[in-house]
Amino acid sequence: MELSDIRGIGTKKLALLAGLGIETAEDMLEYYPVSYEDRTRITPVAELQPGGSYYVSVVVRRILRGRPGRRGGMVKILAEDATGSLEIVFFRASYMASSFKTGELYNIYGKVTKSGSTLQMVHPGSFEPQEQAVRRILPVYRTAKGITQKDLRNIAEAVLAEQEELAEVLPPDILEKRRIAGRAAALRNVHFPADRRSYAAAKYRLVYEELFLFQSGLHLLTGRSSGRIRGIAYPHDDYIREFASFLGFPLTGAQKRVLEEIERDMESDMQMQRLLQGDVGSGKTAVAASVLYKAAKNGCQGAFMAPTELLASQHYKDFLELFRDTGLRVGFLASGMDRKQRAETLAGLADGTVHIAVGTHALIQKEVEFADLGIVITDEQHRFGVKQRVGLASKGRNPDTLVMTATPIPRSLAAVLYNGLDLSVIDELPVGRKPVITKAVSLKSRERVMRQVEQRLQAGEQAYFVAPLIADSESVDAMSAEKMFAALQKRFPDYPAGLVHGGMKQAEKDAVMHAFSGGALRILAATVVIEVGINVPSATVMVIENAERFGLAQLHQLRGRVGRSEKQSYCFLLTDEKSQLGKERAEVLASTTDGFAIAEKDLEMRGPGDLMGTRQHGVPQLFLSNILAYGKIYDAVKEDAEEMFRLDPELQLPEHRAVRERALRQFDEGGNIGL
Ligand code: ADP
Ligand code: MG
Repeated sequence: MELSDIRGIGTKKLALLAGLGIETAEDMLEYYPVSYEDRTRITPVAELQPGGSYYVSVVVRRILRGRPGRRGGMVKILAEDATGSLEIVFFRASYMASSFKTGELYNIYGKVTKSGSTLQMVHPGSFEPQEQAVRRILPVYRTAKGITQKDLRNIAEAVLAEQEELAEVLPPDILEKRRIAGRAAALRNVHFPADRRSYAAAKYRLVYEELFLFQSGLHLLTGRSSGRIRGIAYPHDDYIREFASFLGFPLTGAQKRVLEEIERDMESDMQMQRLLQGDVGSGKTAVAASVLYKAAKNGCQGAFMAPTELLASQHYKDFLELFRDTGLRVGFLASGMDRKQRAETLAGLADGTVHIAVGTHALIQKEVEFADLGIVITDEQHRFGVKQRVGLASKGRNPDTLVMTATPIPRSLAAVLYNGLDLSVIDELPVGRKPVITKAVSLKSRERVMRQVEQRLQAGEQAYFVAPLIADSESVDAMSAEKMFAALQKRFPDYPAGLVHGGMKQAEKDAVMHAFSGGALRILAATVVIEVGINVPSATVMVIENAERFGLAQLHQLRGRVGRSEKQSYCFLLTDEKSQLGKERAEVLASTTDGFAIAEKDLEMRGPGDLMGTRQHGVPQLFLSNILAYGKIYDAVKEDAEEMFRLDPELQLPEHRAVRERALRQFDEGGNIGL
């Protein structure tokens, strides 16, 4: 079924739906509600609490009309039930008065606020004469301008009514063994729960399915579930400790510890499959370089892959310096380089005269051949697809693999997402680092922040400014990078400023970033594109506009761009004072710099439900929202998947075909977590 077949859905709405990620019927099925309106229970007015949303049944006593303004006047409906009274308020909507009749009963759903001592529902989500009201649980979806809750409910109902889209995916023996609800029933109940029990069963089923497909996909791509395979056994030697003399600083205890863990893996005859987690600025690059040194000194080549050209070239420059006196040759590979240099690197990699390759995903291209690739390292690995990482490793014969990330994922979640990877954690920052002083500031105090920024600039330091939008938007009331950039040029005419955002071409972005990291630009106005990996030690202040619009983990990543030297750094979170969530997040950030603690808090604050429906490709999204409640399902999933693969390694049997197809498809969508 096509969405355009649904009544009331024309080209305009189709485009808006696409903006929400809903392009097909299947997309709608997986566009899970963020919450529900429980209209099975009517709450007496006396029990209403301001801030909550309720379903009430009230009789209308009086209808008051305000003075009509340009777009219609205000309407106030005085209503009550046996326990108390309530005002229903509509602004600029005099026509609403005719929707109600005094003396009649209405069922109304809406958010309750308090005005003085009076309880109010301002623009309630729905109201119906009581005899027409349907008592059921209704989904609440994330909407967008031009797409109403009602539109989405209609589409969901229409799609759910089409049987063919709801074909079963899981093998029948598993459904039976685990007593799992069928897919059709589960999807129906997650959108329109019949009752709380069917909802719980539906959620269990969908979480199971998501994890099962994820697990199966990993297995199909990597050819294993979690068992190790044989690989290179590097000799026991002293190269890693020897390399410390090239670094120019003593390693932290944590860096030494993870290097020992990695070294043990390299020296064993099994292939290394290790994830290195280290907070921003914890010094993962030095660890990577030490590891590459050991491999290269033993006659193996190493590859170091970064997600953007800018990061890759930054690493390349650092490595040229680091390896200058080691007798090892470092090569660079990215898509935007000149032919001659590219041909040289390719030749060097093929004949083994280039020992260490630093680059972007260009390293995976077919033409790239290694004489003897013995170790593969991916930086900021959450930015890569599973296929890309496996692709790089396949250029060697079971090379050791190390994936690095600054995304602090709670351990419980990491166990799933990084199935079977060994975990090393750098939990210590280099000495002398001062924690970034973080302050939440209301919009009114922007000028005070600007004066502090000015002081940093006068001291020869640099500043980042981050905004949630690229350009001004009619539908979103938030600062844009473009507007901010213009304002900064006015406010700080003596300091050259640059602008980067995701709408620019890669080469343009790189040029601006290079100018900033070289110091030619003193101020950088940006969107979240600067989030990843970039290292500009003399940038000591960051101002984040509309901080309430960013997630906690994201704010933490952004903040990690400053505080990268021994100078004191500052992070100002400009927050709309009306946003409670914004305030809470700012408080968390101000109180800790521990990325793991922040990640746990993030999961907790967004809570179950709230996360459902926010698409994060390649991450089992339902499970994410339920990690704490559903941790145990994963054991069952692993056991069942392993049994299935034992029986049918390529998933060729008819009952496994749907699993195969869907499991592989999820990684085509740009999946970016897991191995
Ligand atoms: P990340 O883990 O975020 O990738 P980097 O590897 O970019 O961090 O390191 C951040 C900065 O800290 C770099 O300038 C690096 O040279 C420096 N650094 C790394 N390890 C140490 C250390 N042990 N002592 C002092 N400075 C260090
Ligand atoms: Mg890094």
